[in-house]
Amino acid sequence: MSVGWLRACALVMLGLFSVSALAKDKTAIVIGGGVAGLTAAYELQNKGWQVTLLEARPSLGGRSGMATSEWIGNDKTQPVLNKYVSTFKLSTTPAPEFVRTPGYLIDGVYYTSADLATKDPTTAEAIKRYEKTVDDLARSIDDPQNPAATSTLHALDQINVSSWLDKQNLPATARQLINQDIRTHYDEPSRLSLLYFAQQSRVYRGVSDRDLRASRLVGGSPVLAQAFVKQLKTIKTDSPASAITQDKDGVTVKVGSVGYQADYVVLAVPLRALAKIQMTPALDAQHLAAIKGTNYGWRDQIMLKFKTPVWESKSRMSGEIYSNAGLGMLWIEPALKGGANVVINLSGDNARVMQAFGDKQMVDQVLIRLHAFYPQARGSFTGYEIRRYSTDPSTGGAYLAFGPGQISKYWRLWERPIQRVAFAGEHTDTLYPGTLEGALRTGQRAASQVEDLAAGKSFEPAKAAPVAAAAAAGAVAAKKGNFFTNLFGGSDDEKKPEPVKAPEPAAPVAPAPAPAPVAAPAPVEAPKPAVAPVKAEPAKKAPAKKPAAKTETKKAPAKAPVKKAEPAKKPAAKPATTETKAQ
Ligand SMILES: Cc1cc2nc3c(=O)[nH]c(=O)nc-3n(C[C@H](O)[C@H](O)[C@H](O)COP(=O)(O)OP(=O)(O)OC[C@H]3O[C@@H](n4cnc5c(N)ncnc54)[C@H](O)[C@@H]3O)c2cc1C
Repeated sequence: MSVGWLRACALVMLGLFSVSALAKDKTAIVIGGGVAGLTAAYELQNKGWQVTLLEARPSLGGRSGMATSEWIGNDKTQPVLNKYVSTFKLSTTPAPEFVRTPGYLIDGVYYTSADLATKDPTTAEAIKRYEKTVDDLARSIDDPQNPAATSTLHALDQINVSSWLDKQNLPATARQLINQDIRTHYDEPSRLSLLYFAQQSRVYRGVSDRDLRASRLVGGSPVLAQAFVKQLKTIKTDSPASAITQDKDGVTVKVGSVGYQADYVVLAVPLRALAKIQMTPALDAQHLAAIKGTNYGWRDQIMLKFKTPVWESKSRMSGEIYSNAGLGMLWIEPALKGGANVVINLSGDNARVMQAFGDKQMVDQVLIRLHAFYPQARGSFTGYEIRRYSTDPSTGGAYLAFGPGQISKYWRLWERPIQRVAFAGEHTDTLYPGTLEGALRTGQRAASQVEDLAAGKSFEPAKAAPVAAAAAAGAVAAKKGNFFTNLFGGSDDEKKPEPVKAPEPAAPVAPAPAPAPVAAPAPVEAPKPAVAPVKAEPAKKAPAKKPAAKTETKKAPAKAPVKKAEPAKKPAAKPATTETKAQ
């Protein structure tokens, strides 16, 4: 045989091998282009996977893309976020001292924490006492990954935070400020599991506000999303996934009439969005119940723009200001193009009740309240921007906030893949749900689970916690008098959910809008389970082929920046040892 013939044979063989190597390329589809999905796609691509990222909207970044000057934690408190900040060489500026501790707006008068201690010692001391109790609560949890470790702790999951607060006998103003803090960071206290609140307080126990609000990502979280986007090869925006079908050979994801095929899927969408995706085989009853029932916090953001500041100048000095009435949590935003901005965060039931209003009416309601404190407000007002996360169908809420009984039912449910689908998103993180850090962590976790699945590892199916038995044991423990009864000042009173209160009626101020009457707050609309009718068409040709890189690459810029500052999300409850307590 001639050398030439041998070489020709070798080339043919090589060619064949490389074709077969290509055919064996590991392929993955990531659904959802928030920071969790972007992270999963980036990590998988780095490990040699061909990844296609599908995003329902025209832009990427999801919930993260709404802020331009967010405060972020240092690498002690948010290590994953800081790792990407340094990998992508993103610029940060250190947080000035004045944004690091909260302030208060009590009946229209602004107080720093230090002011409060001298000018309103009753409120300051009550807040301090509350923080000490929260710290005791947090200390009762040894392992925040397993908060319901004992039957006593398990019983806390059956109680709502409002009932627990009732037992603390707080003076009215302190209670209002504490309610505001809790509803801003989680949800309305009456909708929140005491065990979840305790677990989150445990996670952040001993973490100071200085560490949590250490620097600013120049340009806010959109720059983080953009940095991921730049690295990814195949992104398809305007591509809402409507169905996922798994079989022994792979997964097909449908977007309209088009089918995409891959070996594995990372599903990085919030639960309300997941409800609209038909899964075959169907999810089990526990997952369907979690999709339908898991509570999300409610938070709407309104940025009001003024020609000049209408508030006293010293209230520029805080990153987060808790109002005792009507205005939720607010902060003053340095306006880049002149004028003055204030961002109002309406949360919990104060925000739910506003869903009856259109954007303009909602802004008017807030202006009326602001005007009552600052009479120049109307005259100086120039416009607004608004974000309503909870009525947005692709989000359906601000972030995870487990309600009573939900840790018992759904704890760590979404951490386990189901066949070829791994789950990501802030709601799937055990320690830092509701944060960028949490979302990033889950993207990494899902990417490594996909690697594990490809390597043949199997994940145990989720097990439901033995709710009834543990709850009953907790109830017995409560009767005996122990940590649990101490928590309630020696009482084992029945915990009734606090009735939801409508915000105080707005005082009419000229030019008064004509708002629709405020209805009693409706409970959060539960989404339908994943049974959306989707025609079972066979996957279509071109994009249905495996090599993800061959699909049309369509990169969209990360969401256009919205002029908004965003303080680092932090636990509402500050342990007595942190620097954020009012003293
Ligand atoms: C008001 C507010 C303030 C916050 N403040 C802070 C803060 O100060 N600090 C902090 O760390 N975190 C904060 N967070 C939380 C943080 O923004 C989120 O935890 C994080 O952005 C969630 O990322 P994600 O990828 O899990 O979800 P998302 O960002 O919601 O991403 C999910 C993506 O999936 C897409 N999608 C939905 N359905 C489909 C479908 N069928 N097909 C394809 N795509 C789909 C959505 O369009 C979206 O882009 C805040 C959140 C809110 C709402």
